[in-house]
Amino acid sequence: MNMNLTKEQEERALRIHRDSLVVDTHNDTIQDIMSGVIPHAKEYSLKRRLCERSTEGQIDLPRINEGGVNCLLFAMVVSRGMYKGRRLRRLLQMLDVFFTEMKENHEAIALARTYEDVMKNKEEGRVSAVISIEGGEALEGELGVLRLLYKLGVRSLTLTHFARNELGDGSRDNSGSNLTDFGVEVIQEMEKLGMLVDVSHINETGFWDVLDIVKKPVIASHSNCKALSDHFRNLTDAQIEAISANDGVINLSFCGAFIKPGVNNRDDLAKVSIDDWLDHVDHVANLVGPNHLGLGSDFDGGCGFPGMDDISKMPTITKGLVARGYSDEDITKILGGNDLRVFNKTLR
Ligand SMILES: [Zn+2]
Repeated sequence: MNMNLTKEQEERALRIHRDSLVVDTHNDTIQDIMSGVIPHAKEYSLKRRLCERSTEGQIDLPRINEGGVNCLLFAMVVSRGMYKGRRLRRLLQMLDVFFTEMKENHEAIALARTYEDVMKNKEEGRVSAVISIEGGEALEGELGVLRLLYKLGVRSLTLTHFARNELGDGSRDNSGSNLTDFGVEVIQEMEKLGMLVDVSHINETGFWDVLDIVKKPVIASHSNCKALSDHFRNLTDAQIEAISANDGVINLSFCGAFIKPGVNNRDDLAKVSIDDWLDHVDHVANLVGPNHLGLGSDFDGGCGFPGMDDISKMPTITKGLVARGYSDEDITKILGGNDLRVFNKTLR
């Protein structure tokens, strides 16, 4: 990658990155560190640990620190068919792994439930870990489960994953159906509790229902622009404008197929560059300005591209934003300031 930055620009980028509170709103790291998929096993083993720099996966503490990332949303995903009937149990296993990692690495990383927690962790030199759930299937159709998960520290929910669930349709099942009554109740309860509503993955009709209901800003934790890559997981310009009007944030993922058309497999990833990703930043900024942009890597969830293959490479984003002419202030907002504004308005 050659961005042709001058030495001054390069130094400026590294300074902005260091001085910013960098937020990444989506990863599947807990699933990745749990070895394989063993829904029937009484115990589960871990294939790697958060404290060790691994040659596998894309996120661990040494690489988080090298990448200068301060706050990450750790997604718990239980939507696979094999978990049907035992989704809640799988979720509890994942939370057990999450909290074990937090305990064993308490000097380096800590749970954050609120904006204030993120600020306190930063002051104390710790990375913040926010718990999110990817796919409302995890609730098993019960509002009480949501309330208990909140008590356990969960603060964000991606309403659907790929398929239809009790809340509504995923974007792969885009039948044009609306949010269900249960989906409406979940959103209302989430806002009452102080949780963050995530509209990534939901079908378009459901998306508009969500935007009608919510009283607080939402995020798309890992989605890109449909205008640049016509993928079912991406957002139309009208959806981007609606998230902006809601004062929410579109967190752009590093998923090759979302970034560039014609990326269908690992080999095609060679065609994707940081410049292609920066085009999505420019597209959103041209449409709604810089106040609704953020980062949602989807590392350990099958995403990343050459030059942006793990979380240690995050400073490349800042260099790219400098190369594209963004101001220091706007870059700080894109790196995390915009998400922090939403955390401050929603999380309790
Ligand atoms: Zn996802």
